[in-house]
Amino acid sequence: MPTELTCIICPNGCHLTVDDNLNVTGNKCPRGVAYGKQEVTDPRRTITTTVRTNSKTFAVCPVKTREAVAKKLIFKVMEEANKTTIAVPVHIGDVVVKDIAGSGTDLVATRDIEE
Ligand code: SF4
Repeated sequence: MPTELTCIICPNGCHLTVDDNLNVTGNKCPRGVAYGKQEVTDPRRTITTTVRTNSKTFAVCPVKTREAVAKKLIFKVMEEANKTTIAVPVHIGDVVVKDIAGSGTDLVATRDIEE
């Protein structure tokens, strides 16, 4: 049975149809084909959240996964992030948790906190 979905790669938001043979239609560019196939076979999301810090100024630091992670791991990633406290200073791109939840990607800081 074909799957209908909206491409979230760019603001065009093309309406995609992916058939049982993973043929994608409705895309305005090739990135929609890759997204449609992946969304049906192995859906992934970039996760953004915050983790606690030992800073006196900023109680939490925003973080994100460097790459999109399998949707089935989102809960585990959030659980691990919730248990994490980072020591400042921290800088954008610093690894906060390596290979978080065995996802194959790192959780990284998305802001600088000096103290
Ligand atoms: S198919 Fe291409 S143009 Fe359409 S939303 Fe996806 S990335 Fe954008």
